[in-house]
Amino acid sequence: MLRSIHSGLSLRWRLSLWYAVVFGLTLLILLTVVQQVTRAVLVSDLDARLRKSAQDTAALLLKDSGYSNPEVVNSVLQANSIGGLADSPLITIIRSPDHTILSTSAGGLDLGDFRISEEGRDRVAAGEDVYETIRLEDGRRVRLYSYPVIDQGKVVAIVQTSESLQHVESALDRFQRIFILGSLIAAAVAGPVGYLLAHRGLNPLERVVRTARQIEASDLKRRLAMQGAPAEVQRLADTFDSMLARLEEAFEQQKRFVADVSHELRTPLTALRGNIDVLLLDPGLPPELREQLSRMSAECGRLIRLSSNLLYLAQADLGRPLDVRPVDLDVLCLEVLHQARDLNRKVRIRMQHEDQVTVMGDADRLKQLVLNLVENAVKYTPPGGTVSLGLYREEGWARIVVRDTGPGIPEEDLPHIFERFYRANGRRRAGGAGLGLAIAQWAARTHGGEITVQSTLHKGSTFTVRLPIHPPDVPAPPRRAAGPPAGDAPTDAARPRPAPAGPPARS
Ligand code: ADP
Repeated sequence: MLRSIHSGLSLRWRLSLWYAVVFGLTLLILLTVVQQVTRAVLVSDLDARLRKSAQDTAALLLKDSGYSNPEVVNSVLQANSIGGLADSPLITIIRSPDHTILSTSAGGLDLGDFRISEEGRDRVAAGEDVYETIRLEDGRRVRLYSYPVIDQGKVVAIVQTSESLQHVESALDRFQRIFILGSLIAAAVAGPVGYLLAHRGLNPLERVVRTARQIEASDLKRRLAMQGAPAEVQRLADTFDSMLARLEEAFEQQKRFVADVSHELRTPLTALRGNIDVLLLDPGLPPELREQLSRMSAECGRLIRLSSNLLYLAQADLGRPLDVRPVDLDVLCLEVLHQARDLNRKVRIRMQHEDQVTVMGDADRLKQLVLNLVENAVKYTPPGGTVSLGLYREEGWARIVVRDTGPGIPEEDLPHIFERFYRANGRRRAGGAGLGLAIAQWAARTHGGEITVQSTLHKGSTFTVRLPIHPPDVPAPPRRAAGPPAGDAPTDAARPRPAPAGPPARS
């Protein structure tokens, strides 16, 4: 339970808690030690007083062997310089060697309780002085000092001096109360102070957390670059920064790798598919072989699409700049339509409306954008359905509409379909990788445009792309990408006129 509370607490609270616990324990230990030392000092002062008084009395008794005369004994107590015994808390008792009381300064006080232990008796009889703490019947504790009076090597009397320990104890009690009260006040102050100190101490750490939170996978160029933080936090921030640098390097390598591999794959795959398609042109092919070759051609098409998408994705991540030129969207749309017809002959594909629109942009990316939308429409529309493409010219904008009569997209999937690798439930068999829309979205955005979608279950979906005819953020041509040369473009997409498009990558 305690452990679970502890693990649920923030570091700040934990530090304050530890601070309070350690502070409390330290005070407790200090209290115990100070109490013991004070007690020892007070008792030893008292012992010294008792000893001095007993020795003075013994000296008087020894004078002229007065200890054998009861009158002398009585008068010794009266004359004792410690005297004024009536007012003093110190009691003196003179006993014979067999411990019979000869005289006492305590007057009418019952001295029956002031008994020395058996062991003490033996030690006194042997000529030793003995200190003992005894408890009286009323519960009070007193200190009793027994001093043997020795004359010619013989114990001739015993002088006992005694004083109540009440003063010592009440002083210690008062001290304890004051100490506990002081400790409580100190703890009440120390709690918030500890919290404030922890807060101040952890503030730089908070800064690290805040900045680290702002850094996303797509933003690995950022660094904490913390200066002047406490040494431990500075070390943490520096380690975090160098970890980010390593991560950035690893991500870059991964992106370059994906770009290289997908590019390398795409070329032989395109050649392979071309060869298969040439074989398919032979009218004498046995039907079984034709069927197999068609399947191979379709699979090649799927792999080409996948590697194209991967390549675009890697380029997006690498931040490859646009290759901006005038692009005729009407030509581009016709090419896409032509490609899409190869995809699925059982779906009707038509151009619903076509204005002549030229935009400034990157032909490859724009083509991939429209291609991905149309391919999706064809892919998800069941045989007998219709996919239509429309291109509209509006005030300063081009609008491309891709409509299908497919199954529609469930409402809960709509907010996610543009995310990378997101695939709506049950769509795995359609053979995509969840990249098409992410790339289309990225392509639209890099041109200052946007994609919206409307979909009704079991009726169909409509994807609308709006592209500015002169995108404000897109740099003016002529401009060549700093990235891979033009030949590295993932698709042989619509080339701006007058250089008409070469055969687009087969899809
Ligand atoms: P995928 O490779 O799976 O097609 P996309 O990013 O192109 O990946 O699409 C993401 C998801 O959006 C798809 O898995 C599919 O569920 C849904 N989707 C996209 N276009 C359509 C469409 N025209 N009709 C129905 N669902 C679609």
